Amino acid sequence: PPVAHTEPLVDDRLPELAALGDRLSLAERLGVPNPYFVAHDGALGATTVVDGAELIDFSGYDYLGLATDPAVVAAAAEAVARYGTSVSASRVASGERPLHRDLEAEIADLLGAEAALTMVSGHATNVGVLGHLLRPGDLALHDALAHDSILQGIRLSGASRRPFPHNDLAALDRLLTDLAPRHRRVVVAVEGVYSMDGDLADLPALVELRRRHGFLLYVDEAHSVGVLGATGRGAGEHWDVAASDVDIWMGTLSKALASCGGYVAGEARLIEYLRYTTPGFVYSVGLPPAAGAAALAALRRLRAEPGRVARLTANTALFRRLAAEAGLAVGSGTAPVVPVLTGGSSGALLLADRMRRRGVNVQPILYPAVEDSAARLRFFINASHTPQQLEDTVAALAAEVASL
Ligand code: PMP
Repeated sequence: PPVAHTEPLVDDRLPELAALGDRLSLAERLGVPNPYFVAHDGALGATTVVDGAELIDFSGYDYLGLATDPAVVAAAAEAVARYGTSVSASRVASGERPLHRDLEAEIADLLGAEAALTMVSGHATNVGVLGHLLRPGDLALHDALAHDSILQGIRLSGASRRPFPHNDLAALDRLLTDLAPRHRRVVVAVEGVYSMDGDLADLPALVELRRRHGFLLYVDEAHSVGVLGATGRGAGEHWDVAASDVDIWMGTLSKALASCGGYVAGEARLIEYLRYTTPGFVYSVGLPPAAGAAALAALRRLRAEPGRVARLTANTALFRRLAAEAGLAVGSGTAPVVPVLTGGSSGALLLADRMRRRGVNVQPILYPAVEDSAARLRFFINASHTPQQLEDTVAALAAEVASL
């Protein structure tokens, strides 16, 4: 029989429940719909459908429009027909399929790395790999704006963790000089493109620091693979940095690669070690056939059609230029993640609601995802947006920001 809990008992033991209630009541107090868990009736592309209304969409990170590409969809369907919906085992046991190997070989080839390993989620890849590679007595230095999964992985490992101010490599250099000698091993974790601001880590400068201090350099390319570089090979191509100058290239399959999952790439011996020993890989199911095949097909489309990357780059430049000309606070980034700061969570919620009424869907990012003062609308630009859609959106945004 169900256990009866009285309200006070739950509140005593789980004060978090009340805190969440307070947070969620903000939308209600402002008289706007709850912005979380909105159901979209279809794929996110240049547009989306919510409650029967078609909206220009900036809420999805299918940067190259490959999640609905006929070849990618067909590859996923064929893989399911051949292998079923699950591989039904860890890869180390009987879950290995040829498409895992093909996908990993092609990811490594794209990056110029020796080998790659895929896992079932990008978040779980950072948690699993950093959590496993580092040990108590090691030191992890990460950019202050690094993704939650990087922080969780470091915490799990028991290593000492120190953030450095966002993109402040002089501060990183000082931390390395002060702290590295007292630790057995040091990892520096950064992102190719930062997921909230769309600015870049200065990879050549980091490679120079790595040469001087001898740390392991870990680069999360969730938002840079398929996005940066003339042909979308990511931060390495953009900065003309050799694959071997970074120890671990981490990325996700969920964004430009139109699927679900994560990967790490690097030296073959390191990847083999991770393949045999990472608990979150060894004791977890292999990437499902549909996800693996979709990512592989997307990767091949990316390579066959670099024009998609060029369109994404041109759309990003246009949107950023129009927004800056309209006086919007889009920051100094250059990537297709474009923040529009609103001064607080209430402003972001109100602005997102007004944009929706004008036919534009964009996600507000509120406290605690960012500090309240850094609340924003976050626009993901994609290759499928038309210049007209981008112009209309900036015009609507400028009008609404002015009347906020
Ligand atoms: N790293 C970064 C920088 C991310 O932005 C994200 C997801 N937004 C992840 C890792 C996790 O990837 P996934 O969503 O594919 O699990």
